[in-house]
Amino acid sequence: MTMKQSFSQYISTRGGIAPINFTDAVMMGLATDGGLLVPSAIPVISEETMESWRALSYPELAFEIMRLFVGDAIPESDFKALVDASYATFDTKEVVPIRAAGMSGLYIAELYHGPTLAFKDVALQFLGNLFAYVLKKRGGRLNILGATSGDTGSAAIHGVRGKDGIEIFIMYPEGRVSPLQELQMATVPDSNVHCIAINGTFDDGQRVLKEVFNDLPFKTSMHLGAVNSVNWARILAQVVYYFWGSFRVQESLQERKPIQVCVPTGNFGDIFAGYVARRMGAPIRRLLLATNENDILSRFFNTGVYSRGEVHPTLSPSMDIQVASNFERYLYYRVGEDSAKVKELMEGFAKGQNICIDGSDDAFAAGCGNTAMTLATIRKYWTEHKVLLDPHGAVGVAVAEAKPLEGVTTLCLETAHPGKFPAAVAQAVGDESLAVHPALEKLKGLPLRKTILNPERKEIEDFMKSILE
Ligand SMILES: *Cc1c(COP(=O)(O)O)cnc(C)c1O
Repeated sequence: MTMKQSFSQYISTRGGIAPINFTDAVMMGLATDGGLLVPSAIPVISEETMESWRALSYPELAFEIMRLFVGDAIPESDFKALVDASYATFDTKEVVPIRAAGMSGLYIAELYHGPTLAFKDVALQFLGNLFAYVLKKRGGRLNILGATSGDTGSAAIHGVRGKDGIEIFIMYPEGRVSPLQELQMATVPDSNVHCIAINGTFDDGQRVLKEVFNDLPFKTSMHLGAVNSVNWARILAQVVYYFWGSFRVQESLQERKPIQVCVPTGNFGDIFAGYVARRMGAPIRRLLLATNENDILSRFFNTGVYSRGEVHPTLSPSMDIQVASNFERYLYYRVGEDSAKVKELMEGFAKGQNICIDGSDDAFAAGCGNTAMTLATIRKYWTEHKVLLDPHGAVGVAVAEAKPLEGVTTLCLETAHPGKFPAAVAQAVGDESLAVHPALEKLKGLPLRKTILNPERKEIEDFMKSILE
């Protein structure tokens, strides 16, 4: 195997599958041994190549970065068209504008210019096109099952709505996503879209999702595929804006010093993409992980112990997660790519044990932005800088202010448009009319199409069968 190919061959964090290529990895979603798929090596980019990347447009950069991990699984001209189509749906040519946050010294990456106004569009517009492409080439059908805490569901639905050969089933916790998030999912009229409101939390949804995917006869006979952030293609698409963002900040500062990137985190998907970018050589000194009160990840990075906590509903519901499904990918690298060790630790965790890791990783720092900090940060950035943050981005900015890194500029990822969370914004600034977006206004009053079910494997499977058979 040549070096180049090893970036486009995928193995499981638990070591139980033979290497597969990019398209097979995308279609597999979760690895069949219960682990997560990772490339068998991560390329390190030369200074010279990186220099040439600085001048590229966002779609051009996305093509250059992602094709390293695609290899010969997709012909380059097809892949280029696929990438271009995925970013043509954004409402700005920059795709991810990077701006100074007033005079605060921080920079903000506006990741919300896609069709559902949240950063997940960056990956899911791409994944939807990728699925449609693979099905067209290979024939067959794909039935997507996903569990969402809000934004993934709508971004996934908008990634595949109306596409031939694809049905999508999205589970979300009834009453625990914002009314607008529910409207973005359950008003989509395309007949291949099926919304399931479950009686439970997001973690219940993730658990039942894993149970259905681990039911291999069902998974195979139903042609199940995943869109949750466990899908490698999603991580890959997100790697791009870490390069893009650090290049743009350096350009603005007119200096080539590495930056810090602050990432509001739930499932560890977005920040894991940052970790991959950093390993590839993106000029990132440190990744600053920000959680809300659901702080399993900030506790881990501050204590070395990964232990479950209660799920608390907060103002940033897309981060109300206590079991981070992508953490296993990081764990794999943290234990020196020892898949037997990962298997042992994850199996122990599934039985209720904690994961304890010695030492530290200077790629990361972490903090928790609680509700009071989130509200104060939204208020401060609006009054002092005329920047309106959404509550997820505000968690990140709050942690970035609390944990500055001497002499290093911080880029904060703004993961949703504030118009998706008008109640939280109004609570912070006292004015409901500030946080609006015309695309959301249009949805108000449309009828909802959803089915309410319990988070039980059989109930979900029976519902899917009733539609698919
Ligand atoms: C999903 C989401 C997050 C968390 O992203 P992860 O990849 O799960 O860490 C943060 N903010 C918003 C708005 C989201 O939709």
